[in-house]
Amino acid sequence: MPAGMPSPATLAVALSPPPPHPAAPSTRIIGRRVDRAEGARLICIAGLHGNEPAGVDALERVFAALAAAEAPLAGGLVGLAGNLAALATGRRYLDRDLNRMWSERTLAAVRAGERGAREDAELAELDAALARELAGIPGRRVFLLDLHTTSGDGPAFAVLDDALPNRRFALSFPVPLVLGLEEELVGTLVFDLAARGVTSLAFEGGRHDDPTSIDRCEAAVWIALDATGLLPRDLRARAEAARRLLRTSRGETPQLVEVLYRHRIAEGDRFRMRPGFASFDRVERGQPLASDRDGVVAAPVGGRLLMPLYQPLGDDGFFVARPVARFWFELSATLRRLRADRVLRWLPGVVPHPSAADAYLVHRRIARFVVRDLFHLLGYRRLDAGPSHFVFTRRPEGL
Ligand SMILES: [Zn+2]
Repeated sequence: MPAGMPSPATLAVALSPPPPHPAAPSTRIIGRRVDRAEGARLICIAGLHGNEPAGVDALERVFAALAAAEAPLAGGLVGLAGNLAALATGRRYLDRDLNRMWSERTLAAVRAGERGAREDAELAELDAALARELAGIPGRRVFLLDLHTTSGDGPAFAVLDDALPNRRFALSFPVPLVLGLEEELVGTLVFDLAARGVTSLAFEGGRHDDPTSIDRCEAAVWIALDATGLLPRDLRARAEAARRLLRTSRGETPQLVEVLYRHRIAEGDRFRMRPGFASFDRVERGQPLASDRDGVVAAPVGGRLLMPLYQPLGDDGFFVARPVARFWFELSATLRRLRADRVLRWLPGVVPHPSAADAYLVHRRIARFVVRDLFHLLGYRRLDAGPSHFVFTRRPEGL
């Protein structure tokens, strides 16, 4: 072969597709460190979406730092990878969004051995891994932190099902807290586990490919270790630094917001967000935000924009949320402890559910605004129940 010509081997390397993200884990367990079986257990999930490897990197850093430290944890930390096949290719998912499959129906089918989408096997494995971790530990001693990133810019924030234990956990993180997403999204992991009584939180660290997102996800894990009482004293400085980092990222965003609107995308919509929007940007009612096959997509309500979509895969174009005053948050904790929800049955258009405890049927006509707010305040979440009614069910509060 003439000098200077590339050998076939070099050519093959040059032409092969780029290697997957270096953090793409090949095993479900990123790390597992249980130093005291009877202590709290923090389970962190990363990469439920395959284009969000920041959480995997973050967990690897934390496990490395823990390995280097002498002192034991007061319980256990477990890091699990989500969609392994999608992480290896850097796509959000291959056939189905793994973070929309945690519904009773899909879980039952997959537990019964049904395999259609490639994500069915991922769901089955992750579900089994979680079941192993949860076995034998009382629900309220387990904490779940689900690490994500977004396609658009913005500060880190946390998403929770607004039950009091989730709230207490969430308030340890100096980031904006987003309420009400569980009424818009069906089948997410955190809301499924929250419904099973596990204290749960999803954390959004920033834009997918921003290196700072890894730092923020790592910060979230240190804060969670501290908030659950797991962190040994000589590592507390890590949590302090983590809180400083997230406080800086938060800037002037409100501490609490509630989702008012979800822009759902249907297949063939050709949805395109206008460039330059970030989470928590202020938007006015009627402001053009995106376009689709029907023309301009405008904000139907004013408020704070959340999670504008700047990637090809995903069903949610954007959300609009409104700030909630901290006063209401505190009032609702008091009212829930007093079980003030007993008054709900006296509202017009509200009847106790015929077969379920702590549930009410509410006529759609009145289930908006004030009534919905009242149910939220008293610790209930709304579920869809056909054309004429909603069902509101009480969140597991562990009161
Ligand atoms: Zn995600």
